[in-house]
Amino acid sequence: MIDKDHIPDRDDDIDGYTKIDRYNPQLIQNLSAHYLDVLKQIGENPERDGLLKTPERIAKAMLYLTHGYDLDAKTILSSAMFKEDYSQMVIVKDIEVYSMCEHHMLPFFGKAHIAYIPNGYVVGLSKIPRIVDVFARRLQVQERLTNEIRDCIQETLNPVGVGVVIECRHLCMSMRGVQKQNSVTTTSAFTGEFLKEKTRTEFLNLISSKLS
Ligand SMILES: [Zn+2]
Repeated sequence: MIDKDHIPDRDDDIDGYTKIDRYNPQLIQNLSAHYLDVLKQIGENPERDGLLKTPERIAKAMLYLTHGYDLDAKTILSSAMFKEDYSQMVIVKDIEVYSMCEHHMLPFFGKAHIAYIPNGYVVGLSKIPRIVDVFARRLQVQERLTNEIRDCIQETLNPVGVGVVIECRHLCMSMRGVQKQNSVTTTSAFTGEFLKEKTRTEFLNLISSKLS
């Protein structure tokens, strides 16, 4: 976790979920010093032209890639909940996922497919991809990412059921070690009605045309 004293500047983020583009200069400076050392340790010359601003660029990129720590997914969801009688399955599929594995700090990326069955309330559809981002923009493992999205929707919206399927390629697999270039990892998590085979099958059929 980012030290609370060192979180990015939040002056323009008072509602708790606006994308963060401005960072605490002291934090950038601290991180840059560490990345400068990393460049030296791997045998690079940080003085050469192409690398002069690299430590600072990595620091800013890393803060962006982990900005989910500073956002609250439940706040985002509950900001757009509406009373509605609709009681059929709502599916948002092919949501882009970009995250970073916590074991190697290398990217994993792919698609999320999310469904829920309303129980008196629906949520603005754009909020579903937003909460995926909140949990993905942290150091993660795909299994936990899947569960956190499910739990957030279940606990905030209290629907009849939630289904989450995520399929991702992991660069820590394809760039190093086992080098299974084309393998895709699929994870899923369900609650309520989706624990029943009939509902789950309906959901999986509806998204399956897009499954890799
Ligand atoms: Zn990894």
